[in-house]
Amino acid sequence: MGYLLIGMSAGSWESISFPSQALALTGLVIFPFLSFSENIPLGTRILLVYGGIVGALGLLYAIHLERVRTEEKHARWIRFLGELARLSPRITQTLSPEAALLSALEATRTLIPEAAGLEVRGRRGLVGQRTPYSVKVPMNGEVAHLFLQKPLTEPVPEGLLSLLGERLRQVLRQVEWGTLALTDPLTGLLNRRGLETELPKLLALTQRYHTPLSVALLDIDHFKRVNDSFGHPVGDKVLEVLGRILQESIRREDLAVRYGGEEFLLLLYGADEQAAKEVVERIRSRFRTQKVDPIPYPLTLSAGIAGGKVPKGQEEVEEWFLKADYALLRAKESGRDRITLA
Ligand code: GH3
Ligand code: MG
Ligand code: MG
Repeated sequence: MGYLLIGMSAGSWESISFPSQALALTGLVIFPFLSFSENIPLGTRILLVYGGIVGALGLLYAIHLERVRTEEKHARWIRFLGELARLSPRITQTLSPEAALLSALEATRTLIPEAAGLEVRGRRGLVGQRTPYSVKVPMNGEVAHLFLQKPLTEPVPEGLLSLLGERLRQVLRQVEWGTLALTDPLTGLLNRRGLETELPKLLALTQRYHTPLSVALLDIDHFKRVNDSFGHPVGDKVLEVLGRILQESIRREDLAVRYGGEEFLLLLYGADEQAAKEVVERIRSRFRTQKVDPIPYPLTLSAGIAGGKVPKGQEEVEEWFLKADYALLRAKESGRDRITLA
């Protein structure tokens, strides 16, 4: 009986049928009890006590395994809830529904390892894979589908899907609002309000990991001339082009801001002044080789760089903005198309 229990424990205590449980428990009591009966030979009595002990051990083992499984399940739920709570769109390059969906999918995987893809019907698209197995995630009006690599071994609790759907709806809404309020519609970069929102988060990161931060202020040279000679729409196109170059040239943690009309601010995480200069140099040369019809000459920009240290706080970073601005002014005065360190 004990061996039977140990063997079955490899499954789950819940999966052991009630008759087997009852039989094992009865055995535990009856075997030792029988062993005191006088008309049973000593050998058999010893065997009965042995049976009782093995049964008890089997039972303990089954209970132990069940507890381990329950604890693992709890830990996974806690991780899932934590991930769900942390689920928030990053404003800069990852401010997209796809990024939000991807984070939601990763959060779900902590609890449902079979999760392979997530899709919200409509324009938000799909992340991961579409598979033949899926469950519906209610989103209060809209519906999302969670795709699975294989059918689930145990059913997903109803509450989990509602929780996921509700969080997903909030985050996607946040992405929409964030896009409207915190980014510049022409370039897709952060606007000043976006900078205000994101700067404290970036500063917290630099302080936690003791990482330097550089500030670069970039300004297109003779931009007024572009507008005057080719018209405002062409000027807009130039701004869009530079916006894209900036997006593509920075890392995930960095911030790119449309700071003024044709003035852009970069906050480069983990970059000392020299590294920042290299980044801006790459941007400058890409911008120069970028052809914007019908402008026949290469476009140039000037930049000022400041900081390059671990910032003490927001005030210091704001000082760096001024220093970068001053460095930019010197770059302009000394002939434009160059980068100056503060
Ligand atoms: P400098 O080399 O000294 O920087 O000269 P600049 O002509 O680039 O600078 P200035 O500050 O004299 O002119 C900036 C121009 O940018 C003036 C403004 O009309 C234009 N501008 C600002 N915002 C936009 C925009 O959204 N679209 C377009 N097309 N032009 C804009
Ligand atoms: Mg300019
Ligand atoms: Mg300017």
